[in-house]
Amino acid sequence: MQRRTITVSGIVQGVGFRPFVYSLASQLKLVGFVQNRSGQVSIEAEGSLTALDRFTEQLRSKAPALARIDRLSSHSIPVRHENHFQILASETTLDADVFVSPDMAMCADCRRELFDPADRRYRYPFLNCTQCGPRLTIIHRAPYDRVNTTMAAFEMCAACRAEYENPMDRRFHAQPIACPACGPRLQLLDEIAVPIESADPLASFVAEIKQGKIGALKGIGGYHLVCLANDDAVVNRLRQRKHRQQKPFAIMVRDCTQAAKWCRIDAAEQQRLLSPQRPIVCLRKRNEAVGISDAIAPGNAFLGVMLPYSPLHELLLDCVGDDPLVMTSGNRSDEPIAYQDADAAERLRGIADRFLVHDRPIRVRCDDSVTRVIAGRESPIRRSRGAAPMPITLPFHCPQPVLAVGGQRKNVFALATGTHAFLSHHIGDLDDLSALDSFQRDIGLYEQLFGITPRVLVHDLHPDYASTTYAIQRAKQEFLLAFAVQHHHSHLASCMAEHGIESDVIGVVFDGSGFGGDEAVWGGEFLIGGYRSFKRAAHLRPVRLPGGDKATKEPWRVALSYLTMASCDVEGWRSGINQAIGSNAVRIVQQMIDRGFNSPWTSSAGRLFDAVAAITGVRQTVHFEGQAAMELETLALQSDCAQTYALNTTDPVDTRP
Ligand code: ZN
Ligand code: ZN
Repeated sequence: MQRRTITVSGIVQGVGFRPFVYSLASQLKLVGFVQNRSGQVSIEAEGSLTALDRFTEQLRSKAPALARIDRLSSHSIPVRHENHFQILASETTLDADVFVSPDMAMCADCRRELFDPADRRYRYPFLNCTQCGPRLTIIHRAPYDRVNTTMAAFEMCAACRAEYENPMDRRFHAQPIACPACGPRLQLLDEIAVPIESADPLASFVAEIKQGKIGALKGIGGYHLVCLANDDAVVNRLRQRKHRQQKPFAIMVRDCTQAAKWCRIDAAEQQRLLSPQRPIVCLRKRNEAVGISDAIAPGNAFLGVMLPYSPLHELLLDCVGDDPLVMTSGNRSDEPIAYQDADAAERLRGIADRFLVHDRPIRVRCDDSVTRVIAGRESPIRRSRGAAPMPITLPFHCPQPVLAVGGQRKNVFALATGTHAFLSHHIGDLDDLSALDSFQRDIGLYEQLFGITPRVLVHDLHPDYASTTYAIQRAKQEFLLAFAVQHHHSHLASCMAEHGIESDVIGVVFDGSGFGGDEAVWGGEFLIGGYRSFKRAAHLRPVRLPGGDKATKEPWRVALSYLTMASCDVEGWRSGINQAIGSNAVRIVQQMIDRGFNSPWTSSAGRLFDAVAAITGVRQTVHFEGQAAMELETLALQSDCAQTYALNTTDPVDTRP
């Protein structure tokens, strides 16, 4: 007989770890207990030496699918001669590594119940278990217990409580556990968010969608706007109302077979589509993609596709049938996605004809993740719902807890301690006041959730980013160390961390823009260095950016600048665009370039792509960031020409030839 105390850390809360430990201990006839202590799971187990060894081994080898064990330590303590194994209530102290699971797509067991007429949760849109359901989006504070989530207001019925308290049940301590008797409910609202009586709100909502209406659907991390993706008229109406002229919409389809009607899907892409993270996957559109509106992603070779991830989505698609649905962020233009009910009702008024909502509040706004597979390998574009706040493992040790506040656009912040970096969900553009509010509030939430108090703040070298201002002010108030990192150096370091690289590298950073610290805007950089430092070994030959930021919306300006720099005979090309742009505007911009008036220098690769797109006649102005380059890529993908331009490797890299 022996007794051991075992401490397990990693992702072990909210993933069914304690019931797993309980059933494993029972099988091996061990006595003792298991308990959540802050983020770690603490176990005392007593029994024969063989059973204990097997227990320790199987803790790792048979752990639940969503669990991730980072550390397991074990040592002997005096025997206590108990007679059973039990699960003790959580103990709260905030001194250990705490992990909170991301929101996970519905598991296979829950799916079976959802469509089983004999099950008490038959067609219940909010069923979940320890292996699936909302997590980050419903949490107020650590530890992850029901009272600390937005489910606190729902009192469990006797049947749910029995499952919740039964260590052998697959819903043991599933914090968002719910059923039709005690959990959240759907409600249908009209176009001004006034409740409409309906015996089956989902069916009524779907009936409206099928008739070409636009719906607002409250999901896991926010509201989506939903409509038929095969109806040009309604897709164009959505574009008008949302003030989103050409930026692609994502679609949701029932399964991979449906997706394969419109897109080519390889094995790696299928694996991403079906993963529990359920991101939007950018798939190559089929040439003969009939049955999907051209207005979904005009001029784009790709289509953003996702599969249902919540039981509500499953039911929605089940009712809709084979029709693909537009499933786009519930917002106007480029605002952050709406996630609070009152705000959604306000902001989506005039866009949505019907709202399908429910009474489980969303605590953390979390956009869909977006990913793309390139040459068989995943290349994430936006890491958010389903992935955040899963930490990444750093190839080095942080001597002090660090908060990195991120950039101004597409903001994500990170908290790091030891060898873990917790990347936030997608916060968005900090120009927007509500995004800035989320930024500040969610930094506070993450610090509390993971028990990390930063001693060091890291910000972009750009003095005018809202994140920079936050870091500098906070460092002053709290007497913390703050330092700036050049934008492209941080891209290089992030890429190294993502791939676990420790040694120095040659980093080619192609970007739109970043503050370089000199007079120029950087963005086409060849850096040599590592985490600590870098040398700017080469960069694209700088070009004038007539009108500064305005040039990013009007690629023809950059094209004119490039052609002028290359001493090309621009007359022919200029007269070509005179008609589209207006000869006066073209003449003024030419003067700006020649005199250098309001025309900063830039080495941006994004602007080079824009210029090529404009010179080749792809487009002269854009509706959204990256549009010209995306359409150029679409054309390039259709070409089988293998020739390339010669590239000199001097500094600066001369683009003029
Ligand atoms: Zn489940
Ligand atoms: Zn219940």
